[in-house]
Amino acid sequence: MAKALIAGGGIAGTITAIALHETGHEPVIHEAYDRTAEGVGAFLTLAVNGLDALTPLGLKGLVKDLGFDTPRIKMHLGNGRELADFALGGQLEDGTVSQTVLRSDLYVALRDEAVRRGIEVRYGKRLADARDTGGGVLATFADGSSSDGDLLIGADGLRSRVREIIDPRAPSPRYVPLLNTGGLAEGLRLDDEPGVMHMTFGKRLFFSHVVHPDGGVWWFANVPRKQDPAQAELAAMTGDAWREDLIRRLAVDRTPAVEIVRATREIYRPWATYDFPSVPTWRTDRMVVIGDAAHATSPAAGQGAAMAIEDAVTLARCLRDVPSIPKALAVYEGLRRERVEAVVERGKRNGDAKAVGPVGRVIRDFFIARAFKNPPSEDPNAFMWRHRIDWEAPVG
Ligand SMILES: Cc1cc2nc3c(=O)[nH]c(=O)nc-3n(C[C@H](O)[C@H](O)[C@H](O)COP(=O)(O)OP(=O)(O)OC[C@H]3O[C@@H](n4cnc5c(N)ncnc54)[C@H](O)[C@@H]3O)c2cc1C
Repeated sequence: MAKALIAGGGIAGTITAIALHETGHEPVIHEAYDRTAEGVGAFLTLAVNGLDALTPLGLKGLVKDLGFDTPRIKMHLGNGRELADFALGGQLEDGTVSQTVLRSDLYVALRDEAVRRGIEVRYGKRLADARDTGGGVLATFADGSSSDGDLLIGADGLRSRVREIIDPRAPSPRYVPLLNTGGLAEGLRLDDEPGVMHMTFGKRLFFSHVVHPDGGVWWFANVPRKQDPAQAELAAMTGDAWREDLIRRLAVDRTPAVEIVRATREIYRPWATYDFPSVPTWRTDRMVVIGDAAHATSPAAGQGAAMAIEDAVTLARCLRDVPSIPKALAVYEGLRRERVEAVVERGKRNGDAKAVGPVGRVIRDFFIARAFKNPPSEDPNAFMWRHRIDWEAPVG
């Protein structure tokens, strides 16, 4: 049995802990904040490959209870023209489809479940440093405390400290030239079918909305923005001025977006988008990064959370079946690297179409309309959501 120190109590960290606990190891989660999931990423859509990976851990039902079915996408241009209506990411054998869920609900429920299963979660523990002690690892935290274990798993997200400790020359995240915002609108009566994700390539921004079965409208928008914004600038983009700015950009399109934005009490403060084309070094003998810490992907892939879950389950399988920790981490990387880098690349391509200026927009609309008229025989996104992990199969 190995004692695994996990830095980060988000999706990757909590599910890794549950999967390791399931295989007889002793995981301890160290989360920087008192409560996770504050702020960014208000809701997400979890693809079926992620849901399938949760099944053997008994967590799929938990996610389905929190979320709602999101089986289809309708694509539009800003002029109101519908381009396509297609299945969002297929379905599992039992009929399960993609689930849209509030990020904070998901984090809280997963952590509660971890605690219910007897896993220790330590809050207010921001990992500051870690070192290999020869046969183990010693982690120190910003509050001056320390903890030792057999290995350290860095599930500490985009700005990972563990990634820096493993490789001080690790690359910084790449800015994807888009700002994200969104919100939950209430009191509207849209004719749209609940659970159908509408995505509009608008003239000045990309807008997506979906009607919740309770009638509320959940939405997000991607605003093109060439330069990586400073935090102070983002912090200033709140309240009525930000709402008016969005409405001004959306007013040129023939969509319900303006009324959705008007019906939203609190619009999320915008946040910038980043990804990692490649993080060259994921591990030492006793440390490894997983989830966004290793391979953050643009939200346009719709796979960040699913990738974090696949990582968690795969890492637990490796530590279950490969007796030496350094070898288990090497096998883990062998199983994951090619796939996650392909997903990041796909997300980048999907996101590029959202980040165009006024001239590029005309060309983009022409090519998008043509592409949807003559779709390829094989959906280029299908490899992402068709992936399955066999939990029972031993890792070689
Ligand atoms: C706008 C937006 C929309 C998205 N939409 C989707 C979507 O529709 N579908 C999808 O699949 N994915 C989506 N994602 C991506 C998805 O949310 C992430 O890929 C996923 O949350 C990654 O999980 P993680 O556990 O690796 O990182 P995180 O969820 O970021 O968790 C990292 C945790 O580590 C903690 N931490 C950080 N530093 C330290 C430290 N030094 N010590 C201890 N703890 C630390 C943080 O507080 C946090 O709790 C979206 C992301 C964004 C931003």
